[in-house]
Amino acid sequence: MKIKILGSAAAEGWPALFCECECCKIARQRMGKDLRRRTAYLLNDDILIDFGPDAYWQVIQFEIDLLKIDAIFYTHSHSDHCNPVELLWHRKGYSQVSRTRDIFGNQTTLNKIKNIFEFGNWETYGLVPHLAIPNKPMEYKNYVITPILAQHATYPEIPLNYIIQDDKGKTALIGNDSGWWCDVTWNTIAQFKLDIAILEGTMGPKYADHSRGHLGTNAVVKVRDRLKEIGAVDNNTTVVVNHFSHNGLGLHDEHEQFFNPLGIQVGYDGLDIEK
Ligand SMILES: [Zn+2]
Ligand SMILES: [Zn+2]
Ligand SMILES: [Zn+2]
Repeated sequence: MKIKILGSAAAEGWPALFCECECCKIARQRMGKDLRRRTAYLLNDDILIDFGPDAYWQVIQFEIDLLKIDAIFYTHSHSDHCNPVELLWHRKGYSQVSRTRDIFGNQTTLNKIKNIFEFGNWETYGLVPHLAIPNKPMEYKNYVITPILAQHATYPEIPLNYIIQDDKGKTALIGNDSGWWCDVTWNTIAQFKLDIAILEGTMGPKYADHSRGHLGTNAVVKVRDRLKEIGAVDNNTTVVVNHFSHNGLGLHDEHEQFFNPLGIQVGYDGLDIEK
């Protein structure tokens, strides 16, 4: 199983547009791993997870062959993960598109996408919507994908994380935006043995213990430790922290100094994870 990190920032990107904070100033000078596009992932070469405001740039930069992409799985409707305007170009007439693509998400996300259609419906745009429901595994191609409930986003949105199993016996968790999961979600995760676990470090060292809606650095370690306790993660699991906000502080090297000795890898745009 291959997962490529296409973006590693929270909502504003890093450096954030307009921002005068010290972290953004330094990131503008250093670029490299401190340049963070909005969070999204490529799974193998056929599935995208989230399709946010940096999608066009990510496709070009990382040479993604969109012709091979069959589906987009959205975690939730927030604008850093779901920027539906780019789906308009999937309509015949705008682009030469000869087949449909599958769109998975919660109801709030599907509504957000549908509401942007200028005319017509899902069919007009060559897209097939699928409602993803927590704890209801979905068989798709050679994967089984289990949505789990995240502790993030306000009611009535049902924010999702995903557990992805491929047909070679590999399992990955996409855990952003997660917050501290509810008991039901912990119990579901406990049924899996993860080869890859991607967590979120949005609140950074500034709000290190924060765990409601998003995680700070200490909370990330607590989540990883709890995953170990319940048997979902062991020393062979690749644990990666991703989805960082400039408001939480911590440039890439500072995050590495904190996380690497604890056995957690720090995500950056372009990182390939293979198991
Ligand atoms: Zn986010
Ligand atoms: Zn900033
Ligand atoms: Zn969010």
